[in-house]
Amino acid sequence: MHVTLPLDKTIDVGIIFSIGRWKIKRGPMEEQEIQHIEQANPIVQVAVEMGLSVRGNLGPCFRTERHMGDKEPSLFFNVAKNIFLCKTCEDVGGGVIDFVCQFKGWDRQKAIEWLAHRIEFDQQTRKLYYLRGKKKG
Ligand SMILES: [Zn+2]
Repeated sequence: MHVTLPLDKTIDVGIIFSIGRWKIKRGPMEEQEIQHIEQANPIVQVAVEMGLSVRGNLGPCFRTERHMGDKEPSLFFNVAKNIFLCKTCEDVGGGVIDFVCQFKGWDRQKAIEWLAHRIEFDQQTRKLYYLRGKKKG
């Protein structure tokens, strides 16, 4: 069965190329690669980096206009499944790509590109720390 993803535009080849272990893709990204992006970006970490104050696995819903009078944070993060949901808003919830889309108001492609960059940056930072550690040791 062929699954059509809501991603008909070509993603910037440069992003994919710079992530060494990935093959160069000229067409739409495959579901497998999108899954990799989901798995490599921990949702709570992404949420905190985007400016949401997450305590434990709870955070405030970013659709504040719907939560007038709510004192408790209502975003629930499931770290193991890498998903989130708001118990009040039916349209708030999903995976890490959904989070970026909903929080920033971006389209899916922009969110995927941002998360792909984030993985790349993460890998470079780790490499840098590793090299520094080696020089010291
Ligand atoms: Zn909400």
